Amino acid sequence: MTDSLESMSVETLKGVGAAVSARLEKLGIHTLQDVLFHLPFRYQDRTRLSRIGELRPGVEALVCGEVLLAEVVLRQRRSLLVRINDGTGSITLRFFHFTQGQVSQFAKGKSVQCFAEVRRGAGMPEMVHPEYKILSDDTPTNVSLSNTLTPFYHTTEGVQQGTLRKLTDQALALLDQQLLHDHIPHNHLNDRQLPDLASALRIVHRPPPDADVSALMDGLHPAHQRLALEELVAHRLGLRLLRVEAQTYQAPLVRPPGKLLADLRSSLSFELTHAQQRVLKDVLDDMGNAEPMLRLVQGDVGSGKTVVAALAAAQAVEAGYQVAMMAPTELLAEQHMLNFTQWFESLGIRVAWLTGKLRVAARRASIEAIATGTHQVVVGTHALFQKDVQFSNLGLAIIDEQHRFGVHQRMALRNKGANTASLPHQLVMTATPIPRTLAMTAYADLDVSVIDELPPGRKPVTTVALDNVRRDEIVTRVGAAIEQGRQVYWVCTLIEESDSLQAEAAEDTLQILREQLPQHRIGLIHGRLKSSEKEQLMQSFKQQEIDLLVATTVIEVGVDVPNASLMIIENSERLGLSQLHQLRGRVGRGSAQSSCMLLYQSPLSSNARERLGIMRQTNDGFLVAQKDLELRGAGEVLGTRQTGLAEFRIARLGRDDGLLDDVTLIADDLLTNSRNSVDALVRRWIGEGKQEYGGV
Ligand code: ADP
Ligand code: MG
Repeated sequence: MTDSLESMSVETLKGVGAAVSARLEKLGIHTLQDVLFHLPFRYQDRTRLSRIGELRPGVEALVCGEVLLAEVVLRQRRSLLVRINDGTGSITLRFFHFTQGQVSQFAKGKSVQCFAEVRRGAGMPEMVHPEYKILSDDTPTNVSLSNTLTPFYHTTEGVQQGTLRKLTDQALALLDQQLLHDHIPHNHLNDRQLPDLASALRIVHRPPPDADVSALMDGLHPAHQRLALEELVAHRLGLRLLRVEAQTYQAPLVRPPGKLLADLRSSLSFELTHAQQRVLKDVLDDMGNAEPMLRLVQGDVGSGKTVVAALAAAQAVEAGYQVAMMAPTELLAEQHMLNFTQWFESLGIRVAWLTGKLRVAARRASIEAIATGTHQVVVGTHALFQKDVQFSNLGLAIIDEQHRFGVHQRMALRNKGANTASLPHQLVMTATPIPRTLAMTAYADLDVSVIDELPPGRKPVTTVALDNVRRDEIVTRVGAAIEQGRQVYWVCTLIEESDSLQAEAAEDTLQILREQLPQHRIGLIHGRLKSSEKEQLMQSFKQQEIDLLVATTVIEVGVDVPNASLMIIENSERLGLSQLHQLRGRVGRGSAQSSCMLLYQSPLSSNARERLGIMRQTNDGFLVAQKDLELRGAGEVLGTRQTGLAEFRIARLGRDDGLLDDVTLIADDLLTNSRNSVDALVRRWIGEGKQEYGGV
């Protein structure tokens, strides 16, 4: 076979030298294959002429007509107005910037072809600064119609639409010579009536005039679906490769007698639920194998994942290995630190602490403790990923609240233990109940255990939604609750992501509440505080030295103070369901009947009304997640920005769920029958990320 487009550089195309190729690199385009997978994000239809009399505002159209009148007017802004008519109606072309030459071009009686979005004008439709062409001959037969819809690509500085169109033209021409390998076996495509790769690319880049534009734009066209299918297959293969490759490594055999685990277990003030016992057994069985564990533990908020993780950690420590416990936020890491220190230090096991906010000396000390192995358990944030962190003997990596970490980060931590031929066991915990389709896609490399039972005695949190105008009444109720010995969270939310704005809003709320409830002890916690300050505050709250804790959404995950039994959430109408559910999970952890008040600002949108309704009706995380998926889509449920799922170029979960069963079939087929295609697909779609994916 001749060179394939996969390996041919863009520089082989006409018009691409070193300068253009450097700019194309910014778009991730290096090879001809990359050119073809840089897909248009919208189209214009210049394949047919519209009748002026039938134009509707808001639609882009190509029209052709005869100039009736061209005049320069000086009303608000000097402008050139040209009126043209095609026998079905008239339209005004409006130019704010123009030359005298242009004015004289539009001589009465000339035929003009123009393209723009139609706007509502005075008395007749208009186009502002249309692209136009004066036709040499006065007959509209000279109108130049495109043979295909006109594609629009994401561009970058120095690379215009025109350039990308020329490049894709050339690459598509080469495609006719069959130089791009189609890795999806055609029997799978025929079953679904999807086009082969070359046809799909041709249609998406240059859709024929009769193509269904809205299907193309919505990604529902068979050509798009074909590409989405391939992308999902590639992603699945990437994850499956991780797993296959992991299995070629040895993992520590963790099979000690279990004395430490038993000691820890008997020091607990409660019995494990059946679900916790079952999941712990899954984990211990995995660790007793020489194959690296890759297990996801799902459990609703409050189901008791942390203690399962700690018991697994005890087992690894007894077997002589180190354990890393990583959380997505400082605050959550601190909670784990408190728990782990309390559980482990009395058993003579030392716990080290590492986050990004440590001072230099403290950081150095932690790194030393980790490297020399004086500390067997390490708790921290993603600071644990950093290059200078070397474990002496990492046997188990625990990642809490996994949906906030991308696949790449997951790999980086696992690689920490992989300096020899061995990999640590990996335990991932998430409180986001994930519907099956999402789990298949996001966690195809993991085994899954579910803690589907809450500790006994938990009473569902009673949830009410209240209009913000009733705030004073609510403050009175908060005061009464505190007098009964209850502790309260008051959560301030802002749409702004900025820590400092959130902190400010929370400061304001604190002042107001202090004035209204002067006899009670009120604290404030937000993302701008130092770790030590946050830790101090959470400790005081836990020890009931604070009655009311004003907080930002920093307390969203993992914070655990069982005596807190009332939560107020301000502006709850702005939050997504999963986030509300996570927040609400901070109460209802003790034996007291807990409640949650969702304050909202009227008027409510129908979507917000529906969300608050669901929160009132159910405490079941799986139901909440399913509803959230329906209302907002997959990316939001998993935390868009943070997951590998946001990395899809074409596929979209939710929309493309119907493809997932085929994805499984095709991925299995390729893994068994065509290892070359597996590697090629991963390279094609995951590209440089492959280094991290497969770099174990
Ligand atoms: P999550 O699954 O949300 O991380 P945690 O592990 O933080 O839940 O546990 C929530 C609370 O429930 C903690 O206070 C924990 O000590 C307690 N807990 C865990 N397991 C049990 C159990 N089997 N019985 C009673 N309380 C438990
Ligand atoms: Mg937790």
